[in-house]
Amino acid sequence: MKTEFSLAQLADPDIAEADKILRACVHCGFCTATCPTYVLLGDELDSPRGRIYLIKEMLEKNRPPTAEVVKHIDRCLSCLACMTTCPSGVNYMHLVDQARARIEKDYRRPLSERLFRAALAWILPRPGLLRAGMILGRLGRPLVPLLPTPGVGSGTPTLLRRIKALLALSPASLPPPGPAGGNVFAAKGERRGRVALLQGCAQQVLAPRINQAAINVLTRHGVEVVLVKDEQCCGALTHHLGRDDDALARARANVGAWLREADRNGLDAILVTTSGCGTVIKDYGYMLREDRALAGPAAKISALAKDITEYLGTLSLQPTQQHSDIVIAYHSACSLQHGQKITQAPKELLSKNGFVVKDVPESHLCCGSAGTYNILQPDIANKLRDRKVANIAMVKPDMIAAGNIGCMVQIAGGTSVPVVHTVELLDWATGGPRPGLD
Ligand code: SF4
Ligand code: SF4
Repeated sequence: MKTEFSLAQLADPDIAEADKILRACVHCGFCTATCPTYVLLGDELDSPRGRIYLIKEMLEKNRPPTAEVVKHIDRCLSCLACMTTCPSGVNYMHLVDQARARIEKDYRRPLSERLFRAALAWILPRPGLLRAGMILGRLGRPLVPLLPTPGVGSGTPTLLRRIKALLALSPASLPPPGPAGGNVFAAKGERRGRVALLQGCAQQVLAPRINQAAINVLTRHGVEVVLVKDEQCCGALTHHLGRDDDALARARANVGAWLREADRNGLDAILVTTSGCGTVIKDYGYMLREDRALAGPAAKISALAKDITEYLGTLSLQPTQQHSDIVIAYHSACSLQHGQKITQAPKELLSKNGFVVKDVPESHLCCGSAGTYNILQPDIANKLRDRKVANIAMVKPDMIAAGNIGCMVQIAGGTSVPVVHTVELLDWATGGPRPGLD
């Protein structure tokens, strides 16, 4: 794609990067076929190619984003299916991240929306606040069927519609908190490795059992696990809201905390059980590339970051029981398959450890979770969830496995089949409790 940035514009490293990305696009349109919003809405401006044009115009003309641009960028799930499909290697992720940051800086949303987004950005990365918010949400849950559903359709969802979506996502009950940062879990038997395990923020509140399962499997196979004390939310949630200052501050804090741990006690890897977080941590090197002091350390941390299934694949797990009567529908989270290009490892681990694993039709399409997307764009998110659940039902599973808490909550909202994390099944196969009973 031809671009017309001035030399002065190209002196800005972000614009230089955008220019490189835009020039790689040959506007072939292959990406439209796998873009969930284009598949649902059929509007070119809700396709990757259409959004690339909108972003190009906004950056090239250096003008504030229009309401039209914001509408179509907001509807993008950042699922990155387009990056998997693109034959030219267009880095849409870095382009849309830049567009979101520009919108956040230069576009004035209505007051109610600004306040709602600010509340999400403030509460979601803080587990204590999130827990309190979910308890309040639980109280409001019975009101959900009574609330009207205005705004369903092609426009921007109203505040009431979003509040309704938020309440509907609040769980009926919350488990007790998991272990706090600073805890170290000793390897059983001879120590074969030492890893940090990301504590996460939403997952820590909604399903601490996931990291407990990871700790069980790892320590059972000779790996010491540390929950690093000064670790923070990875920044993914605020990054996707365009709040880069917040996301970068979190990235810097985490790089410092993990490097101190690695220098003092050694770390073979930083393991992540929430693939949305893993995709962002693996991008810390890029996000902090202009930070003279931290560019190198951030790249080192990104190289250490691994999805839990990547690391477990290196361990030769020892199953203690076979579950060949259990059919698992494997839901491939977008952040895992498109963001991290991890497609086979989780399925191979499950098969090797005794489960019958089935691929889900249209597995490249997002379930609609996408960070805060199912709160901010609930109508598109619900349509995607219903489509995903219908596709999952076609393989008649006993359980659904996924590697991302956001997808798990989203899919569970549309089915009675238990939705569990891949690592919970691996824990079960190697001597842990059966998941999905709560
Ligand atoms: S597939 Fe790639 S090159 Fe083709 S239009 Fe989409 S982003 Fe551009
Ligand atoms: S990230 Fe997903 S929703 Fe956004 S343009 Fe790409 S395929 Fe479409």
